[in-house]
Amino acid sequence: MDPEFFDAGQPCAVLTTQPLDRALDYLAPEGGCWLGAYVEVPLGPRRVMGVVWGPAAGDYDRAKLRAIHRVLDVPPMREELRTFIIKAADYTLTPLPAMLRLATRAPGLTDPPATRRILRLGQGEPDRMTDARQRVLEVMHEYGGLAFTQRELADMAGVTTSVIKGLVKQGALTEEDAPKDLPFPHLDPAHKGKDLTEDQAAAASSLAKGINSGLYGTTLLKGVTGSGKTEVYLEAVAACLRQGRQALVLLPEIALTSEFLTRLEARFGGRPAEWHSGVTMTDRRRTWKMVAEGGAQVVVGARSALFLPFRDLGLIVVDEEHDTSYKQEDGVLYNARDMAVLRASLCSARVVLASATPSLESWANAEARKYERLNLTSRFGASVMPEMRAIDMRAETLAASTWISPTLRKAVEERMALGQQSLLFLNRRGYAPVTICRACGHQVACPHCDARMVEHRFLKRLMCHQCGETIPMPEACPSCHVEGKLAPVGPGVERLAEEAAKVFPEARIAVLSSDLFGSARALKEEIKRIADGAADIVIGTQMVAKGHNFPLLTLVGVIDADLGLQGSDLRAAERTFQLMRQVAGRAGRTELKGLALLQTFQPEHPVLRAILSGDEEGFWQAEAAERQAAGVPPYGRMVGIIVSSEELNDAFDVANQLTRHSEVLREAGAQVYGPAPAPIARIRGRHRVRLLVKSPKGVFLQKVIALWVRNVRVRNTTRLTIDIDPQNFL
Ligand SMILES: [Zn+2]
Ligand SMILES: [Zn+2]
Repeated sequence: MDPEFFDAGQPCAVLTTQPLDRALDYLAPEGGCWLGAYVEVPLGPRRVMGVVWGPAAGDYDRAKLRAIHRVLDVPPMREELRTFIIKAADYTLTPLPAMLRLATRAPGLTDPPATRRILRLGQGEPDRMTDARQRVLEVMHEYGGLAFTQRELADMAGVTTSVIKGLVKQGALTEEDAPKDLPFPHLDPAHKGKDLTEDQAAAASSLAKGINSGLYGTTLLKGVTGSGKTEVYLEAVAACLRQGRQALVLLPEIALTSEFLTRLEARFGGRPAEWHSGVTMTDRRRTWKMVAEGGAQVVVGARSALFLPFRDLGLIVVDEEHDTSYKQEDGVLYNARDMAVLRASLCSARVVLASATPSLESWANAEARKYERLNLTSRFGASVMPEMRAIDMRAETLAASTWISPTLRKAVEERMALGQQSLLFLNRRGYAPVTICRACGHQVACPHCDARMVEHRFLKRLMCHQCGETIPMPEACPSCHVEGKLAPVGPGVERLAEEAAKVFPEARIAVLSSDLFGSARALKEEIKRIADGAADIVIGTQMVAKGHNFPLLTLVGVIDADLGLQGSDLRAAERTFQLMRQVAGRAGRTELKGLALLQTFQPEHPVLRAILSGDEEGFWQAEAAERQAAGVPPYGRMVGIIVSSEELNDAFDVANQLTRHSEVLREAGAQVYGPAPAPIARIRGRHRVRLLVKSPKGVFLQKVIALWVRNVRVRNTTRLTIDIDPQNFL
């Protein structure tokens, strides 16, 4: 049994957030320290943060050990979180320090507790409005009265602190001393909830029963759009609060957070804590500390909230569990949905996976009885899932470079005559996906990536959607230098909007694409305007499929229903099915009956047939059977390996070595495919070569992979990325 406390001068091991391959031995400081204590330790000339991880390894001369500099004023990391970090690191083959960094990402943790001067909006008006002053006040308004320090506010508004001092002098801002890190308002589970239908009440009570058991368990809560999923899982949150435990609600998109917080406030009479990249430094630290001390009962956040130091986590809700944004694709590669299940299993918590269109993984786990499954069938209010119909594009006559078929056009005109809204859906940002030179046939590509530049006419620039590089729209062809011959090919939402303006000259048209709005607030306002009826036609990308409610919307026209079916991604069918159903679900969420029209060149495609018939279970069963036959997830295991380097030969060299030394994989029953250039063969100037490892389900693949890659010498210039359960194959 490991000691729980280390007396002053006793050696102990400290895991730091620095990229070292193991914990280091230190001496406990004056006053001693607990196992799990957050500490500052000397490392070379620096001081770094770490956590007391266990007894000392003891392989160092004790006389040479340095002492822990100090213990931070926060509760020690609980054993449950330490175990979670270790298991998550093992599962994703991530070095422990990188995992620990995820769990200590709170700025100013090492600062001493004290009060701080904060700024709030005041009553006064500035005598003279300058651009800089305007920006400061806009930031304050944008964050709805949250308090900032002078430095934070100056940084966010991009002004000097003297601008802020001026505003304070004139009373437009007020200064006050606030204790750092106050607890969040108390949330009351008995505060008025919405009346539930019979169906919803039954689901809510089943979830509550699970929570009251105090045991781990995962429930797939499946309900069509508008079935009241949120109301149901908020009752699970209420049950968790009644047990005196904490709840975490994960959302797929920050833009949805503020609307959701308002909903929670209405249900529980107080605003819960927030955790995502849009939260200020000060508020992040407050959330982190209050979660640890029990001063935050509910956290609403992004996937990284899974690594917060909860004192007693009783429930994790993963809303829209199928959403691909739960998979972190940068740095530490983990899937928040799977990690939520892991963490809950370690702290006897419940998991609720909520979705209208679950992932095949969760569906299969429910079929195999690993997860409980609850279905909400009746839609809230009078409406039902909209009627779905295909428009067979082979039978439609369209002019060149137009995408709205006569049939779709007629349907939109009918809605306009009734004063109802239509949504034209196209999952492509920008004006045109390809820019081609009519003189020489050259397609403008990103200089750093194997990707075409996408025209964004609104910005008058070409942009690479892989690395973000943008260049002004060139006059002359970069290849043959002939002027005036560059032409767009194919549609993006901006181009579709242009066509819609010609086809429907009377219509008020709004475009919803994530890149067209400067801030989350501007986007939210536009969504509200549209919901209030300020547009006849909404043109949108994938973001409109998520959660936003437009009561007047009764028609959805999918411009290219075949788009997602191209390519070799093993989840192409699943994703298209989910996306089409979500988008269609935007139509007719109220009393008005909805219609969804899917423009397609292959209406007989099995996926489209399943979408049109609405036979969900049939689709899942067919898809499951196909994956089972192919031995791919969720019925087999996959690991993606990307070797990248500025030199193509170096990348192939390492990849070939891996293939040559793959006996250890074959012995374990796994196969390796490749190497081959990745579908996107170059990103940010680095060539990318892919290997794919496949194995039957029972194999503990991580262990084998770790052994395998250890045998291969990787040069400094070459990077090896291991992606367990890859979600994309680019
Ligand atoms: Zn690029
Ligand atoms: Zn040219």
